Amino acid sequence: MIRSLGILGGGQLGRMLTLEAKRMGYHVVTLEPFPNSPTGQIADEQIVAAYDDLRAIGELGARCDVVTYEFENIPLESVLALEADRRIVHPGSNALRITQERILEKTFVRDCGIPTAAFAPVRSRDEFDAAQRAIGFPAVLKTTMGGYDGKGQWIVGSPGEAEDAWTAAKGRALIWEQFVAFDRELSIIAARNAHGEIVAFPTSENQHDHGVLATTIVPGRIDPAVGARARAYATTIAERLEIVGTFCVEFFQAGDDLLVNEIAPRVHNSGHYSLDATQISQYEMHVRAICGLPLVEPRQFAPAVMVNILGAGNGDTLGGLDALLRERDLKLHVYGKAHAALRRKMGHFTVLAPTVEKALVKAEHGRALLHWIDERAAAAR
Ligand code: AMP
Repeated sequence: MIRSLGILGGGQLGRMLTLEAKRMGYHVVTLEPFPNSPTGQIADEQIVAAYDDLRAIGELGARCDVVTYEFENIPLESVLALEADRRIVHPGSNALRITQERILEKTFVRDCGIPTAAFAPVRSRDEFDAAQRAIGFPAVLKTTMGGYDGKGQWIVGSPGEAEDAWTAAKGRALIWEQFVAFDRELSIIAARNAHGEIVAFPTSENQHDHGVLATTIVPGRIDPAVGARARAYATTIAERLEIVGTFCVEFFQAGDDLLVNEIAPRVHNSGHYSLDATQISQYEMHVRAICGLPLVEPRQFAPAVMVNILGAGNGDTLGGLDALLRERDLKLHVYGKAHAALRRKMGHFTVLAPTVEKALVKAEHGRALLHWIDERAAAAR
């Protein structure tokens, strides 16, 4: 029987995963370099150590029956070391290796017969010149590893801009991607357990602000056939990668085209709404999947909109929370982060309504409360 879970990473995803795991009776240990992390505040234990500290990683493995991670930028070597110690890690090192490197990831997706934006590897000056000729402009240049929330990305419209991005990348490996003029961005959260059972949440629609997720609308305003295709792609990906756990596939939808942008082998920001809008959350689903429990097909109570509460760069206090707490019809989640840096994910709220349009009106009402407070604070300075 699995009784204790180890989580590499101490952010908000780990925190919500821990809240659900503890509700279900599991003992949770997190490993994260910063003390009193959002996850560490809730977990039974926090090992304060770097993600590449193999002695500490070994300690985490020894204290837990199964280990997982809440973000994919942890060193592959740490997961390999746990596996070499015969510890159970879900998802395993192969899924992590492929999804944490953009060239491997897009090549894998293409090899599954699933469409992606045209791309080319840029690991040398020759490859940079070749990609420019083969794919052209506009394009997005991205570092192949370590990027998140739009970091390590450059949209380039001309050879001059590409040259600037090349300089800014300082020799890091890149991928050259065709810029997709998408109608909308979509994602699907799904889960697979070790018995091969797969379930999926409804396909959601995501709106970004400067590369950071701002709003998730569920269900996405799409033709049901597009949703079915997203689900079929997620199923193929999970089977081919043998993922055990909750994962997310992000897409660009342009007309009838559905292109995979990336795979996150973990619980995901676009699945936060499931804490309030479905009878089972993505977090409980992850716990069930990694503990070998039966999975449950999610059922949504009503159309939902999730709004991320991002740091406004006005110092460490998050304006607007008091106003949001007064709202009767909005579920607020705050992550316990001390510093509200610009566009840092500090919390989120979810609203439900009989239609997506009505949920969007409620969400904008909540967002306006945050902005009003931020603007007032800025004016007072
Ligand atoms: P990513 O880190 O790949 O998820 O990219 C972050 C965001 O940048 C995406 O959610 C899109 O809004 C945008 N983006 C990334 N790649 C492309 C692309 N090839 N074409 C257009 N927009 C993109």
